[in-house]
Amino acid sequence: MIRLAIQKSGRLSDDSLKLIRECGISFISASSKLKTEATNFPLEILFLRDDDIPGYVADGVADIGIVGQNVLVEEGLQELTVKTLGFSKCRLSLAVSKGDTYQDVTTLKGKSIATSYPNLLQEFLTSKGVQADIHTISGSVEIAPSIGLADAVCDIVSSGSTLISNGLREVETVFKSEAVLIANKNLDPEKNRLLQQLLFRMEAVQKAQKSKYVVLNAPNDAISEIKNLLPGIKSPTVIPLAEEGWSSLHSVVNEDDFWDIIQKLKEAGAEGILVVPIEKMIG
Ligand code: ATP
Ligand code: ZN
Repeated sequence: MIRLAIQKSGRLSDDSLKLIRECGISFISASSKLKTEATNFPLEILFLRDDDIPGYVADGVADIGIVGQNVLVEEGLQELTVKTLGFSKCRLSLAVSKGDTYQDVTTLKGKSIATSYPNLLQEFLTSKGVQADIHTISGSVEIAPSIGLADAVCDIVSSGSTLISNGLREVETVFKSEAVLIANKNLDPEKNRLLQQLLFRMEAVQKAQKSKYVVLNAPNDAISEIKNLLPGIKSPTVIPLAEEGWSSLHSVVNEDDFWDIIQKLKEAGAEGILVVPIEKMIG
């Protein structure tokens, strides 16, 4: 049995649960519960506040966890990282009041800055050679300048709309974050085996999300050019169509070059191009 800690309720919760389900693990989740057990994998899930997750994993109360890098690094526990997960992307940014003049970080010398991330902020300011007065507060950081508590704030931003609606202007990125899988340093061999199984499944899910299955029809004389455009996992599958002189090609395309490849396929004579999502991709 391996114990996984995830956020009970907040911005990491839904995607964490989704990832576990995509790994083929079933469980009953009641938001009121503190923990639950999977029905088809030796996994127990603990629901905690995100700030508690790194410490619990470091101490072995939980074996593994899912948490934002912002919290993990703030708590000085980045060495627990096993894998980045690609969701809950956000940044820790410095912001000043909309009307304040701001040239560069040195503008903040001697100013007071409100934040829930004093360590990350201090590290950033030190690296820039700036001394400022850091006020650590645990929530509603964005209202600090308007109530006269601080000259600037250092807070989590994703779209930036919260800052704007509080009359603030983002001026520096202090830290970029996404969700990560973390693990205790001293897992016993059995737990380590379960972790490796989970990692294997997570990688299959992530790979599949980055790939599309492409099916298309092409005249036989265009096949060699199209084959070069479609590397596939090994090479594309070519199946003759009932119509003389035509074939169907099947392959896998990476999301990053997807539109580029589709355009070239059309130019090469491909017709009836179907693009299908992939659920899992192994090997
Ligand atoms: P808790 O009650 O568990 O302490 P919290 O209020 O501290 O929750 P949330 O606001 O739910 O935390 O954010 C959890 C994590 O999600 C953050 O630490 C960050 O990594 C990420 N996050 C925060 N804001 C955003 C956002 N706007 N978009 C995407 N991810 C975000
Ligand atoms: Zn929190």
